[in-house]
Parts: sequence; structure tokens; C-alpha cells
Amino acid sequence: MNEWADRRRGALTFRVTQVVSGHGCFGHYLHRIKREPGPQCHECGAVDDTAQHTLEDCNRWVEERAALRLVTGVVDLSLHSIIATMLGSERKWDAVASCCEQVMSQKEEAEREREADPDALPLRRRRRGRKRRAYVRLDP
Ligand SMILES: [Zn+2]
Repeated sequence: MNEWADRRRGALTFRVTQVVSGHGCFGHYLHRIKREPGPQCHECGAVDDTAQHTLEDCNRWVEERAALRLVTGVVDLSLHSIIATMLGSERKWDAVASCCEQVMSQKEEAEREREADPDALPLRRRRRGRKRRAYVRLDP
């Protein structure tokens, strides 16, 4: 039996799930669920803000990406490679989870600021009396 047999399912955090599923605070997804007028990236202006753009390309996250590479040695930041890296060891799993946590929490904070802007488009404004997010929470 190896260390992975003991790992609880809850270890797949909310923010890792957002990155893996693409159902999170990404322009592409927010546009698809009609929360944003377009799919572009608010951080760098790229035309399509997907989870893959955030992981591999967005120049806003250069430091987070460098930290992830330093700990894990990962070169290829495709989703397939990121998942394989996570499964490599507990240390690498934690490094990926930490990177997702840092990046997604900042993206969410920026999204909250856009929602709170009194000049925000109606579709972007914070909804009251309705479930605000359609994401599935996996963490307790
Ligand atoms: Zn970007």
C-alpha cells in the first residue's frame, strides 16, 4: 500500500477543480454562462481566457508559474501534464493546489471588484436573492 491509498477525496480543492474543469473564474466560462459580455482575459487582454490560458500563457501569473516549476520541475503546463504532475508526489500535488489557490483567489477578487463597480454591466452585477455561483463546491 502506498501513501496515495490514504489520501482523502476532499484533497481535490475547490480551486483545483475550477482549473481542471474550466468551470471557474475564467472569461471564457463566465461568458458562456452569460456573466461576461466577452471571453477575454481581464489580466492581459488575451481574446480567450480559458483555464489553459491561465495555466500556460497569461503574463499576469509569471511568478506563480515559476514557483510551480521550481517545486515540481514541470515544463509542459498542459492540463494533462499538470494532472500527471499532481499524481507524482504529495509535494507536487500540494504545489499545484497552492498555485491554483493563489491564482484563482486573485482572479475571484478581481471579479468581485468588477461586480461591485456601480457602472458594471447588469449581467456582471452581483445578483441578490439568487445563488450567485453555479460552481460545485467539493471541499467541506
Ligand atoms: Zn491573460
